[in-house]
Amino acid sequence: MSAATPGLVCAHHHLYSALARGMPAPPRTPTDFAEILELIWWRLDAALDLEMIRWSAMLGALEALESGTTAIVDHHESPNAIEGSLSVIAQACAEVGVRVLPAYGVTDRHGPEGARRGLEENRRFIEEGNKGLVGIHAAFTCTDDSIREAAAMAEELGVGVHIHVAEGIGDASAPQRLEGLTRDDWLLAHCVHLPTDHTLRGTILHNPHSNLNNAVGYADPARFSNPVALGTDGIGGNVLEAFRLAYVLQRSVDVACGPDVAWSWLETGWNLVPEARTDEVTWSYEPMDPWHLAFTPGVRPLQVKVDGEVVFADGRPTRVDATEVRARAAEQAARLHARL
Ligand SMILES: [Zn+2]
Repeated sequence: MSAATPGLVCAHHHLYSALARGMPAPPRTPTDFAEILELIWWRLDAALDLEMIRWSAMLGALEALESGTTAIVDHHESPNAIEGSLSVIAQACAEVGVRVLPAYGVTDRHGPEGARRGLEENRRFIEEGNKGLVGIHAAFTCTDDSIREAAAMAEELGVGVHIHVAEGIGDASAPQRLEGLTRDDWLLAHCVHLPTDHTLRGTILHNPHSNLNNAVGYADPARFSNPVALGTDGIGGNVLEAFRLAYVLQRSVDVACGPDVAWSWLETGWNLVPEARTDEVTWSYEPMDPWHLAFTPGVRPLQVKVDGEVVFADGRPTRVDATEVRARAAEQAARLHARL
């Protein structure tokens, strides 16, 4: 192995959460995952407008590039700025030079009209010729009708579905709700509380940092026969870091395992965004071997090429000014936090 790899793929991201850092504390301290959603994320996503979405995506894409990640599978929700939101995200990522596969997370949390508008945003974006998936927030926030409609739309458009599955115990009925609907091109995020002998098809997206942060438990993805890929669930875009954490978490329940398993999960990302295989990252460390990387923090890209173009070199993105992106994102974060 050398110091070069293809571009890494972050298989589950929420670019909108880049502006959450420093947000005001919730009215009271959440005591479980359901309250983390209600008191933090569902207040934040409701306050987003398109300008905030644009700069959160710019910042998220920049941070991905700075970590050698050239492709992001994004799951988006902004219930008060639905129409056009996926295009804003795609445009921002394109400006920075990062590939993105976005989806709008359909939900009935804001009534049937909100669900319909979310579905239509997925359709609009994909029918305009963009690469994307159909998003569903999660079975537990959707009616059976909405889930079926999203599944049918994805099949009609020839794309997969990106959905949260059994992240918390409150979504433990997801395997029954999704029975018979999933296909191999579905992306199933988390699956912490999914039984090992489930019948769902698709790639399981493991997000170790987020699962620990939300105290939802350990998914132990090695127990599944499905393919497994690695994501950050919105906590930055550093997939190497996700690999290192995924390895030690697996090790915590299986002292005989090696880092090659978690590395294979990182490699699964290339099946989700095959174009990233043609990207090239030259790293600060050699060899880029799982046994080395599992115990080597701080490995960073020296140069990143996407589609043959150098988009990152000498510690800086080539297409955008990192200082300006951070300043504009900070302005939008202040606007967002003032609404909370
Ligand atoms: Zn997520």
